[in-house]
Amino acid sequence: MKKGIIISVSGPSGVGKGTVIEKLRSINPEFGFSVSATTREAREGEVEGESYFFKTKEEFENMIANDEIVEYDEYVGNYYGTPAVPLAVMCDEGVDVLLDLTIPGSLILKEMFGDQAVTIFLNPPSYEELEKRLTGRGTEAEEVVKQRLAHAEEEMAEADKFDYIVVNDDLDTAVKEIMAIIDKVKAE
Ligand code: 5GP
Repeated sequence: MKKGIIISVSGPSGVGKGTVIEKLRSINPEFGFSVSATTREAREGEVEGESYFFKTKEEFENMIANDEIVEYDEYVGNYYGTPAVPLAVMCDEGVDVLLDLTIPGSLILKEMFGDQAVTIFLNPPSYEELEKRLTGRGTEAEEVVKQRLAHAEEEMAEADKFDYIVVNDDLDTAVKEIMAIIDKVKAE
């Protein structure tokens, strides 16, 4: 059986990665999703095992030591990582897997998986729009929003290291573009 491909979506915080991935999954329920492990606290409404696997720092570091994590990154004071086994199982079953990763995370995966992985950089229509979205979300303290915005500027400079850049101005258009990318990669 042909292995599933790894579709990694990155971009600055607030660009709408979560929404884009949700929409891709609702249109194509056959997509798999890699649920990450993290040491950050759960936000309201987040479900253990669906949004994330919530771990203590010690638990996370044990997972790293035991090779249970394919890639991980530290982002604004917390660890985020991709659990190895679920990703391998989905790919072996021929399931195409979506991942929502930091920029270094996507670049590591690309290095590890080569042509089996496609990296997509989601850009906001403008920096001002990103600021508006991030402030309007209301899920984080002002200080965290500031940190995320400071990060975002650096992040947007990394876009050209990715296989594809998609601008998330209109959700449906961005999703269509990503579907076209996936179809093209699978046809290769
Ligand atoms: P949030 O706290 O907003 O849920 O996520 C913060 C950042 O961590 C986002 O940019 C998200 O893409 C990234 N992230 C989530 N899971 C993983 C993971 O498993 N590995 C890496 N490298 N980044 C992740």
